[in-house]
Amino acid sequence: MFKIKLKGLRSIYRDFVRFPDYEESPLRYRRLRRNMIILMLLVTVLPLISMGIINHYQYLNTLKKEIIHPMQVLVADKKRSFELFLAERLSAVSFVASAYSFEDLVDENTLNRIFRVMKTEFGGFVDLGLCTNEGLQVSYVGPYDLKGKQYADQEWFQELQVRDAHISDVFMGYRKFPHFVIAIKHISETHGAWILRATIDTEKFNNLVISSGLDAESDAFVVNQEGVLQTPSKFYGDVLEKLPMSIPPISFEPTVIERSDPKGKEILLAYAHFTSPHHILMVIKPRTDVLKAWYALKSELLLLLLGGVLVIFLVVYRLTGVLVKQIEASDQKRTQVFHEMEYTNKLASIGRLAAGVAHEVNNPMSIIGQKAGLMKDLIDLDPSLPQREKFLPIVNSIIQSVERCRVITHRLLGFARRMDVQILVIDINEIIKEVIAFLEKEAIHRNIKMELKLSENLPPIPSDQGQLQQVLLNILNNAYEAVDDGGQVSISSWDHDQDTIGISIQDNGSGMSQETLAHIFEPFYTTKKGWGTGLGLSITYGIVKKLGGSIEVQSQKGSGTTFTVYLPKKGVHGEEIKNGKLESTFG
Ligand code: ADP
Ligand code: MG
Repeated sequence: MFKIKLKGLRSIYRDFVRFPDYEESPLRYRRLRRNMIILMLLVTVLPLISMGIINHYQYLNTLKKEIIHPMQVLVADKKRSFELFLAERLSAVSFVASAYSFEDLVDENTLNRIFRVMKTEFGGFVDLGLCTNEGLQVSYVGPYDLKGKQYADQEWFQELQVRDAHISDVFMGYRKFPHFVIAIKHISETHGAWILRATIDTEKFNNLVISSGLDAESDAFVVNQEGVLQTPSKFYGDVLEKLPMSIPPISFEPTVIERSDPKGKEILLAYAHFTSPHHILMVIKPRTDVLKAWYALKSELLLLLLGGVLVIFLVVYRLTGVLVKQIEASDQKRTQVFHEMEYTNKLASIGRLAAGVAHEVNNPMSIIGQKAGLMKDLIDLDPSLPQREKFLPIVNSIIQSVERCRVITHRLLGFARRMDVQILVIDINEIIKEVIAFLEKEAIHRNIKMELKLSENLPPIPSDQGQLQQVLLNILNNAYEAVDDGGQVSISSWDHDQDTIGISIQDNGSGMSQETLAHIFEPFYTTKKGWGTGLGLSITYGIVKKLGGSIEVQSQKGSGTTFTVYLPKKGVHGEEIKNGKLESTFG
């Protein structure tokens, strides 16, 4: 399974980076570059970004832990002291209920004494009262006149019907200030069930929550199960108001959650539930404040990451541009070399074929020639031969035709033979003038203007005189054939660069179509139906290559053609000219 997957991935990868070998078009290089960019970005930017993301979360987690932990400790501390406060008071009331009888407590003097001790020892007690099981307060000490009050319909009283001890929620009651009640039900043999209840001032209780460990932006308070505030909150309402937030899920351990408050402010809420009463302690800190440092760092990191990605992108973009351009250039070179090889191969094979045919034809031809010569001698020797006048021109025309055949086969053989190059010191301007002399008659006859622009300080080069003559002659012949009578042909020569000299032959003749231009160096390609051989330029091409040079053509249909030949200043075998003399530096 895994293997198959890997194989699939590999083939996708190969497709993606494959060097596109076929169809040469600009699109192909654009696609190659695009693929390279995507791939390089993928392997550089992806790890960078994922590392950034991982770092981000790790850092955030540590940071949160650092903030969350102190909040948890704070909540645990407060919860402990809060619970202790209640437990102390509960056990004080419980103790009194157990230690004293109903008769003792009905006596207000005794009750007053006990109350004063409780007030000094524990603090927070506002009053103390004894109620019958029916809810009537029969004895009371405290700042109000509450003796004879009926509590049967109060919530804490009803709670006591099912329980022995109860701590009430904070409420206003008869006293019109927030307080809560601790009540103990006691059952004695003589008086049945009776209730001792004490009221606790919330101020002491509030101080427990608010004091210590809070900065100006933070808040701490206690709410009951219904979300009613038991102590005042700095931001979310006074005591006995409803907290404008939902109660978090039950947790007796200090827990921190992230949420937004009713005003949409992001907060961190630390809380813990009490076992009894079922109140919840909450500590709230604004999240942005807590994480401000982190946000600053985050934006810096993000900027750094973006900068990095941008730099990578630019580098990748430039690099692929350069790379693809180089690939394109070397592709072009390769194609060119390939074409040249094609020509050379074609030339060689056709050359061999032609040589074979020429050789075969040569023998019968020379026999025909000999025999015709013999016939001519016989005719010459015998003036009395009948119809002598008729035979003589026939024999002459046979001899002429044979001679013509001999020239053609000779040419073919020459084309095929690997004629050895004979390197001499050559003055190109000299050769150009010689070749022009050959064609002078035709130029005059057809009124063709010859223009010469020969460089005066052209250096002599080591090359082959006969073969260069043939090159120039072939090109010039074509030029003459291309121009109309009265046309113009110009020849220039110049010192091209450190290593080469240049010769150009320009005509204002018919020019060539793109189609023709693509084939002109192929053997037997001709547009001169019936009278062209199509060999001239292929021979020329072969020679120029053999001499270590190159040839270029520019042509415009209807307006003319320019052939440019570049020849090396060093011979093909490394010959150099020093002080007008040939020196071979090769082997
Ligand atoms: P040929 O001259 O026998 O046709 P070449 O090999 O010399 O064979 O030339 C091949 C073809 O190249 C010609 O048939 C002609 O179409 C074209 N050509 C060569 N030189 C020129 C030129 N100067 N102007 C126009 N066409 C040319
Ligand atoms: Mg020709």
